[in-house]
This record gives sequence, structure tokens and C-alpha cells, in this order.
Amino acid sequence: MNHIDEYRDGALARAIAGTIAAEAAPGRTYRFMEFCGGHTHAISRYGIEDLLPANVRMIHGPGCPVCVLPMGRIDHAIALAGRAAVTLCAYGDLMRVPASGGGSLLKARAAGADIRMVYSTLDALAIAREEPGRQVVFFAIGFETTTPPTALAVRQARDEGLNNFTVFCNHVLTPPAIRAILEAPGAERVRLDGFVGPAHVSTVIGTGPYAAFARDHGTPVVIAGFEPLDVIQAILMLVRQVNAGRGEVENQYARCVKPEGNLIAQRAMADVFELRDTFEWRGLGELPFSALKVRDAWSAFDAERRFPVTTTPAADNPACECGDILRGLTAPADCKLFGTVCSPETPLGSCMVSPEGACAAHWTYGRFRTLARAGAQGAAA
Ligand code: SF4
Repeated sequence: MNHIDEYRDGALARAIAGTIAAEAAPGRTYRFMEFCGGHTHAISRYGIEDLLPANVRMIHGPGCPVCVLPMGRIDHAIALAGRAAVTLCAYGDLMRVPASGGGSLLKARAAGADIRMVYSTLDALAIAREEPGRQVVFFAIGFETTTPPTALAVRQARDEGLNNFTVFCNHVLTPPAIRAILEAPGAERVRLDGFVGPAHVSTVIGTGPYAAFARDHGTPVVIAGFEPLDVIQAILMLVRQVNAGRGEVENQYARCVKPEGNLIAQRAMADVFELRDTFEWRGLGELPFSALKVRDAWSAFDAERRFPVTTTPAADNPACECGDILRGLTAPADCKLFGTVCSPETPLGSCMVSPEGACAAHWTYGRFRTLARAGAQGAAA
């Protein structure tokens, strides 16, 4: 585990935090967004915010694929699973995402739908092979990280002649979401001094797509790995950019991310998928050219075309603040439902479901530190 342990060295993390504290100008506040849910999880799990000086703050972003999936797409998946002979295959963290009317994939399965939890596209392909009498629909979600495996699964199905395998495509793209946050209108725009850029996404797309944010907005982006030393070093790099008045793309995760990304994965994605004109994101609303759909040439593998369903638009629970959390406007602890009626066992919003969700991460790790801080303050008073 050397290669992991060396990125979790507490003494080194505290030393870098000391450098951040020394270099952060006392008269200003630094506000950085970690776009990716993996970073949100790491920041909560390793207590990185506790190491930072009070004027360097982290803001959670929308980079959790489960969190940004709107309720209508869960409803659509449940409707697909309700069709005769359809087996819906979904990742485990989708199973409890709230659908309309208090539903979920888990409840639909309990009511009789054939919904199976899978760990990868390979599991779904295996089911299609083993059960030719079933129409196997893979509920494909995720950013650029998980899109290449879906593309390869479609090609594999074609090569094997599996005509009972389709994908319900919900793959979304990182750069349009970052742009939506930077260009949100008026009061919906959160003030940001920089982004901790995604790790795994960037291994696929490279560093180039972030250059526009530096160019158009002067906003620094530092791509970072998911280990605690990766994250805290990226924060130091952002502080230094801000202090120097620079807005550039830097790559802290150079051990995995190449400037050009993974060209083989990019070609596979481009072969099977093309841009949707628009796609609804939870919290961010309709974003043009922000998601992918199956190309016409591969329409035989597109569940939306093979199995049309109709669903009624549904609104999120009005008391849930996931939308504002995903836009960086508020934090999980500010939601009145946090830890009362909403917990990972009884999630009211998508941010409480996936481990990468801001509410779930705060529930698992952050709430204890909040309580400890409150206790320490009480004792001091
Ligand atoms: S705590 Fe629950 S209700 Fe509140 S924002 Fe998070 S997911 Fe929504």
C-alpha cells in the first residue's frame, strides 16, 4: 500500500497546510470549488477543511453523477423497468435516489420490477448473454470517466450479436457544468477564486478543456488526484495562482493526467455517442450541449428509442436544498432536514444518497467534526 500511504502522510499534510496559512493573504478570502464528488468525499473523510486557515474555504460542486440526475430520469428508468421482459441494470448508488411520488428503483424492485444492481457494464452484458429472453437495459450514468466503458459495452454487444442489450444514456459532461456555474445569473452565481479540477474525468479529457475558463474568466483550475495530499497541494497551488494574479490550468495529478487525455477512450466515446441539444441537471437546470446520446448508427442499442415511455415532469421536494448545494450556494449543514428527516437511510434528496454526495459525505464524516468544534467552543466559553 506504499503508493497510497505516501499520499496520506499526515505530517506532510499539516506542513502543506502551514504553508497555505503562511501564504494566504490575511486580508482576503479564498473560495475554491471542488467540482468533483470524489474530492468532496476526500475533503470530508480526511478533514482537509479543518487544516485550512479560516480565510480559505472549500465549496462543494456538482460533480457527483448521481446527485445531478434529475428526478425525471429516475422516473424514466422506473418506467423502462416496468415494461414487459425488461431487466434494468443499475449501479448500487442509484437504487435509493428519490423518484417522484416517494418512489425509487429499490421500491420499484420491491413492487416486482426486474431491477438488478451491477458493478460494471460487464455484469449487464453477462446478464444479456445468459438470459436471451430478457431485454437488458443498462442505466448508464456518469461524467466522462464512465462514458468510455459504456461505449465499449455497446461495441461489445454489437460484436457478439447481443440484440437484447441497450443503454439508457444519462452521461453528462464536465466543462458545460463548470461554465454554467461561472456564468450563472446574478444572485445564483457563487463567488469563486478557482476550481480543484476533476481527477478521473481529466484522465479521459486531458487538461485542454479547462483552458477556456482561465481564458474567459481568469479562473484558475488545478487538476488534482483524490488522495488527501493531492487535494491539499492543489489548494496551495490555487492560493499561489490567486496571489500572483494568475488564472491558469495546472496539473497536480500529472502522474495520471496527460495534457491530451486518453485518446483511445475519447475515440470510443465519439464513435458511439454524440451531443444532446440540451439536458436537465438537478440544480443547474437545462444546460445546452451538456450531455450525450446514442448516435443514430447505434440506435439499436439505445433504450430510449427501442422502448419509448412517457413520464410526467415532477418537481423535487421543495424542502430539499440539493439544487443550491450543487450550485455552491449553500452547504449540507444549512439544510433544516439534514440529519432529522433526511439521512442516508431515508434520503429526501440525491445529495444524501451517493457517498460522493455532499450531504452523504457530511453525514458520514463532517457532522462529527462540527459537533466536536461546537463542543470545544462551548468548553472555551
Ligand atoms: S440534507 Fe437531505 S433534504 Fe437537505 S439538501 Fe441534503 S439531501 Fe436535500
